Amino acid sequence: MKNQSVIIIGAGIAGLATAIRLRAQGLEVSVYEANSYPGGKLTAFSEKGYRFDMGPSLFTMPQFLEDLFKVANVDMSNYFQYKKKEVVCNYFYEDGTTFSAVADEKEFAKNAESTFNIQAEDLETYFKQSKRKYDLTASLFLEKSLHKFSTYFSKDTLKAVFNVGSLDIDTTLDAYNSKMLKDERLVQFFNRFATYNGSSPYQTPGIMSMIPHLEQYFGTYFPKGGMHSITMSLFQLAKDIGVDFHFNTKVERILADKNIAVGIQINGDKVLSDIVVSNSDIVPTYRKLLKDHKAPEKILNQPRSSSALIFYWGIKKEFTQLDLHNIFFSEDYKTEFDYIFNRKEVHSDPTVYINITSKDEKGDAPDGCENWFTMINVPSNTGQDWDEIIRQARENIIKKLSRGLNEDISELIEFEAILDPRTIESKTQSYQGALYGASSNNKYAAFLRHPNFKSSIKNLYFCGGSVHPGGGIPLCLLSGKIVSDLIAKTN
Ligand code: FAD
Repeated sequence: MKNQSVIIIGAGIAGLATAIRLRAQGLEVSVYEANSYPGGKLTAFSEKGYRFDMGPSLFTMPQFLEDLFKVANVDMSNYFQYKKKEVVCNYFYEDGTTFSAVADEKEFAKNAESTFNIQAEDLETYFKQSKRKYDLTASLFLEKSLHKFSTYFSKDTLKAVFNVGSLDIDTTLDAYNSKMLKDERLVQFFNRFATYNGSSPYQTPGIMSMIPHLEQYFGTYFPKGGMHSITMSLFQLAKDIGVDFHFNTKVERILADKNIAVGIQINGDKVLSDIVVSNSDIVPTYRKLLKDHKAPEKILNQPRSSSALIFYWGIKKEFTQLDLHNIFFSEDYKTEFDYIFNRKEVHSDPTVYINITSKDEKGDAPDGCENWFTMINVPSNTGQDWDEIIRQARENIIKKLSRGLNEDISELIEFEAILDPRTIESKTQSYQGALYGASSNNKYAAFLRHPNFKSSIKNLYFCGGSVHPGGGIPLCLLSGKIVSDLIAKTN
């Protein structure tokens, strides 16, 4: 396999992870990126004394990042450092309830008992069930290709199949949570985890109740320097081990000869390689880069995950009741999701998430100020009037936060920038600006994600949030592992 050449299309987090793994396997790796910078959605900007992470803000499962430094045989601490968060997230409800979710599971259950109508033991049972679901399915659904026969002939698969009846696949997450937790505020709390893969708790299956396990058991972390340091550390590592990068270079075509990938086309010129990996969203990969090949329409036409509308606000005040992660819940969660996934509109009372990195990284805002990444979930871009949606949402968010914080926050905003589904799409090529590729709003969703390889074109592979195993940093990093394992086996 050594000396084989591979081209990776896109320097998103999955493209970087795949590049590092393949280079560590001895391949000659070149990455072609349309933007002038690496990271795709995981990027950042600074203005007027404020620094903002633009995309992902929640960092879980750092072990998948650590693995990349291990395979490259370098000491991670020279590149990347992070700390565990003791307070995971602060929650604010419209009825005045506030709840601070802490990392320690027992303390979490005890605090929940004094805030909600629940016994600590019932919550511990909930977390045990989450863990059980994760342990039964992770190696099958997350760590291997779902599309190779060998995956199904393993002890883990037999165990998962044997236990399928207890994975709550045939019920929705909301129905499962309502049965287990009863108190509506707590149901809303655990329903929110559906948004971690851009889905609706009223449609996604109950097996998604494994997601709280990732946050509660594996923990949440803050990278020194903010989320962008994940991108920059992987980029530096890739360069240090000899990956070759080409920025401002949009790939136009994937070239195949007799159904074997042979390279790419850039500005009309051919660049040849033995292997091609696309980190571009799977829809434009087919519609633009593989125009002459039959597209898997059923997979490409899956409904998209939610997108996001973000106001990056420089706030000239500090709020002691806020932490790194904060949620201001909508009063009517069901209607909010009906707007996003059925009407494809934005509800007038959206759930608002505020991420404030200056809580952990003082230099991210001027003295006495805070950098608010203020986000609501919105539908993917199907041609809505976004300028009008943004105008209304801004008004509604300011009213809601002013109510929740007992202070007119409109007076405090001294800097503003905005990201919406249109700009997410134009900056990263993500189809309809979806954050996580297709949504997981039905029980077959895992099987309807595109495989990490193409059976009809040898030596062509796919990584990233729109293919198996899914979106979000941990799964994108795992897609890089699956692709490099497949390449190692084939070559
Ligand atoms: P991308 O980041 O989309 O990168 C793809 C890259 O490929 C881009 O740089 C693009 O320019 C390049 N490219 C595409 N086509 C071409 C071409 N033809 N030629 C050259 N280059 C090309 N995840 C979490 O884990 N936690 C979170 O808290 C979280 N919050 C999020 C909030 C927001 C606002 C957003 C936008 C995303 C969030 N996510 C979160 C999701 C996470 O960011 C993504 O799942 C992940 O970053 C996707 O990485 P990727 O490598 O698949 O693709």
